[in-house]
Formats: sequence, structure tokens, C-alpha cells
Amino acid sequence: MKSSNSRIDPWPNLSLAYSGGNLPQSLLVVGPTPQGEPAIAWCQILLCEARGESNCLCRSCQKPLEDHPDLAILSPSPHTIKIDDVRSVLQSLGYRPLWASTRVVWIQEADKLGVDAANLLLKVLEEPAPFVHFVLTTEYPDRVLATIRSRCQKIHLPETDRSRRELGPDWMLARPLLPEHIVDAVWYVEEAFRRTHQTTWLVLWENLLQAHQALATNANQEVWRERIRQWWRLS
Ligand SMILES: [Zn+2]
Repeated sequence: MKSSNSRIDPWPNLSLAYSGGNLPQSLLVVGPTPQGEPAIAWCQILLCEARGESNCLCRSCQKPLEDHPDLAILSPSPHTIKIDDVRSVLQSLGYRPLWASTRVVWIQEADKLGVDAANLLLKVLEEPAPFVHFVLTTEYPDRVLATIRSRCQKIHLPETDRSRRELGPDWMLARPLLPEHIVDAVWYVEEAFRRTHQTTWLVLWENLLQAHQALATNANQEVWRERIRQWWRLS
């Protein structure tokens, strides 16, 4: 049993996986793009040659992450992650790691994988070499190929740090009205109520919980979207 690691302590789900010695080979980190930190911390832990804490002085921890010989980063260029890029990274996985005990592939904005690229990746995710780890990050998990999602352990980041503007109607209502997006909004509303003690937030909180329940039993998304839009206006 490994102890917790201060690099990932702020993210309980990651911390739990680590302390259980259960480092998922494929991890899908769901959260807004600016919160790339858990993915960075996770890559650093995987690449560390001493399995060390944040002040580790091993060769890998001292190297800037993007220059590490065992890390490959895939990102959209400019709008999609291209199949040629995916292919060349996957080909490099045939070689054992140079410094670390694992090769790490970080796929940024995984929702931007083209269909062909996603299918190519899927073949490797189904049976990765034991010395390979994948870290996928996305703000829109529902746009990631379902078969890829099902191959990954999913970590959903809490949304407590969002500003009002980011979590307002523009944020939630611009997305498919999924229960997990309502959960994000509930986080925000709960914080707002604790901060202000205004009952309007409490009412909105209760309404969102109702919406969450209704959508879990396949209620009409558009009807609830319109209701939520009204509630946001009233708050
Ligand atoms: Zn280290």
C-alpha cells in the first residue's frame, strides 16, 4: 500500500487511486482546460524515478515535463488531433522507457480526436503494453468516443474554483444538459448559498437537484433546460 502523495492531495479521487497502489493505465481527467494541474501532477508521479513527493530531486522531476524523454503529448493542431500524430506516438510506444519505469502519453483535449485517430488509439487502449500509461484530459467527456471512455478510469474534477461567469447559464446551458453538468452547477450554487446566505440560492439549489433527478429518469432535456434558464434569471 503506497502512502498519499502531496502532488495529488487536492484531488481526492486521484489520491485514492494512488494510495491504493491502483494507478490506472488509462485515465480520463474531466474538467475545464485551465485546470490542467491534476494531469500535470499525475504525469509527474508516473515519470518520477523515486515515486517521490513534490520536492523530489530525481532526474525526471528536475526535467521540465514537456522535455521528458518518456512523455509524449498529443494536442489539437489546430482544431483536431490528427491521425498521423497519433500514429507516430503509438509507434514510439514499442520501445521501453528511457528514464522512468513507464512511458506516458498525455492527450490534451481528447474530445478533439478525429474518428480515425480515436479508433486507432482505441486499439492500443484495449491492450496497452505494461510500461505505458495514458492520460486523457477533456472538458467535454460526452464528445469523447464512448468506447475510449469505457477503457479509462474517469476522474471528474469538482468545480468549486469556477467564477460566476464561467458557471452561469452560458456555461451550463451551452452544453448538453447532462446530470454531471448539473452537478457542476450545484457545486457553484451551494458555494454561493454558503457565502451569501441568500435563500434565492437555496431555492435554485433545490430546483437543480430536482432537475438532476428528473434527467436521471430520462425526462425531456429541452423542457428542463428552459426551466433552468428561468431559474438562473430569477436568482
Ligand atoms: Zn522524482
